[in-house]
Amino acid sequence: MQIKYPVDKYSDHSGAIHRLQELNRQFAIEHGHPRKAYVQTFGCQMSEEEGEKILGVLLDSSMVEVNTQDEADVIIYNTCCVRENAEQKVYGHVGVLKGLKKRKPHLIIGIMGCMTQQPTVVEELKRSYRHVDIIAGTGNINNLPDMVCQVIEKGRRVADLSGTERIAEGTPKESHGNIKAWVTIMYGCNNFCSYCIVPYVRGRERSRSVEDIMAEVTSLAKAGVQEITLLGQNVNSYGSERGLPGGQAFAELLHTVCQVEGIKRVRFMTSHPKDLSDEIIEAVATEPKMCKQIHLPLQSGCTETLRQMNRKYTADQYRALLAKIRDRIPGVTVSTDLITGFPGETDEQHKESMAFIEECAFDMAYIFIYSRRTGTPAAKREDQIPEDVVHARFEEMQKIITDSSYKSSKAQEGTVLTVMHEGPSQSNPSMMTGRTEGNKIVLYSHQDCKPGDILKVRIDTAKTWYLEGTVITED
Ligand code: SAH
Ligand code: SF4
Repeated sequence: MQIKYPVDKYSDHSGAIHRLQELNRQFAIEHGHPRKAYVQTFGCQMSEEEGEKILGVLLDSSMVEVNTQDEADVIIYNTCCVRENAEQKVYGHVGVLKGLKKRKPHLIIGIMGCMTQQPTVVEELKRSYRHVDIIAGTGNINNLPDMVCQVIEKGRRVADLSGTERIAEGTPKESHGNIKAWVTIMYGCNNFCSYCIVPYVRGRERSRSVEDIMAEVTSLAKAGVQEITLLGQNVNSYGSERGLPGGQAFAELLHTVCQVEGIKRVRFMTSHPKDLSDEIIEAVATEPKMCKQIHLPLQSGCTETLRQMNRKYTADQYRALLAKIRDRIPGVTVSTDLITGFPGETDEQHKESMAFIEECAFDMAYIFIYSRRTGTPAAKREDQIPEDVVHARFEEMQKIITDSSYKSSKAQEGTVLTVMHEGPSQSNPSMMTGRTEGNKIVLYSHQDCKPGDILKVRIDTAKTWYLEGTVITED
């Protein structure tokens, strides 16, 4: 689904876009087929959304999408650097492309995204991966047509890392989802958690204007999108760099987005516990279109570890916030992010953290093994935790989360939930699937309905990661 925005800011690049369209027309004549593009994203939802824009820009310049890199004439890897294994994976993939380029010398290879915001990575790519043609950072998507033109016309390798603090507006987007879409509302982060590389590679917080966000949401709704997830590293502080009171500006944005006709559900991520204001909780509680769901990364349940992580809240403060959320939004689903193996974490601190995590009874959690990111304060520490200890702690944590997720699903048995219908289940095509407001997958038998329809489903059986139910009525 191609989405173009009425915002005219992409046309600043019209010179390069037209040049690339012309080059692509010549290519199609010479090769008997249009230039084929393949984009692969490694990383979080924000990276996924940027990957849709990279593909959108390429298709807008008269390329066609292919599903495998072997068929492609242009390959772009949109990378992530939050954890080291994501980075290693990219290096592995890029290495493999060398052979492909030998067989197909006209192949254009680009590496974009978070990873290329690190000077050491750029040096490594320039030096050891000479088959890479384009190295570009996160703010440079709108310059992609120009970079591709330079490679084709001048046979030149291009590195453009200039745009970290830029917000690219009006970028066309190619979305594979039909009823759900992500909308990034702010970029960067000011929090500098001691383990995290994001503020270094994504720069300081910059919020998009309400007008630009609304132009995008309205275009998506016109294209048939019915569920929007607003994205940012810390959405609660939306607008705060412009002097708007953070929590208030974001709460107002939620109310505004909920007014868009055709949009049935609105979600957001991620919230930082120190910034989740009463106004935001109130907006989730009172707006019928707001999904009763909050993703609230805890990272650790031990106050001393939280202090060393520079998270700026204590376990007690988190407990109080969680109680307020659950009190004000009955039936709310709360998910979290956790890090295991943070440097210096003692057995006692780990135990304290586990007890707190158990007490929180999360509906869902992503558990990450601590990854040492060069340039962050935690990476400089000498008291890194041995791998075997980290893995044992990870398993303990996983058990607690599996138990609490199962309990949360089990508590839904016999209740009637509102489900947005998506279509046949991928793992079991004889069943249909949809999602609850809490984003849990529900399986039910075939229905005469279309994606986006809201169904009432009675939950019959709870599994840890999904639910099975019976459709009662259509709304
Ligand atoms: N801004 C969001 C998400 C940032 S990245 C937030 O603060 O919650 C998503 C998750 O990756 C984080 O919540 C954290 O749990 C994890 N993460 C970030 N840096 C990490 C690191 N160096 N090692 C392991 N996990 C990390
Ligand atoms: Fe990283 Fe912390 Fe910012 Fe999240 S809030 S992106 S964990 S620095």
